[in-house]
Amino acid sequence: MDNKRERLIDLYRRMAEHTAQECAAPSEFGCKRAFACCHPAICFTVIAWAKEKWGVELAPTGHERLPLMGPDGCIAAPHLRPTCSVHACCMVEYGEKPGDPDWTRAYAELLAEIKEIEDPKDQLMR
Ligand code: SF4
Ligand code: SF4
Repeated sequence: MDNKRERLIDLYRRMAEHTAQECAAPSEFGCKRAFACCHPAICFTVIAWAKEKWGVELAPTGHERLPLMGPDGCIAAPHLRPTCSVHACCMVEYGEKPGDPDWTRAYAELLAEIKEIEDPKDQLMR
């Protein structure tokens, strides 16, 4: 595997951990409805992207609504679901995490590093 791919895997893993903190955070900016951000159309896009870009076959889990949702959350590794990994409700709603500039700065730095290699939105432009 080339260096850019290894770097992407690491960056998306760190980004997914960073955004997941916010989903779990018991604050007014935390999740109001778990996995409300997920949509079956995104799962199908991820299945196609994982196969095309990474040669990974993702098998649907049988979840009633979300093809890639397993008992412990999404079964796709963070680099296989770029748009999901970089999604954070606070960034969509406010463009920042209100009251936490350190979190917002770390988010922006990770996203900038990812964008040096690929735009996460490329997954949606196929
Ligand atoms: S991204 Fe938003 S809706 Fe999705 S789990 Fe996190 S806080 Fe909840
Ligand atoms: S996080 Fe997983 S289950 Fe949710 S939309 Fe993305 S691929 Fe589907």
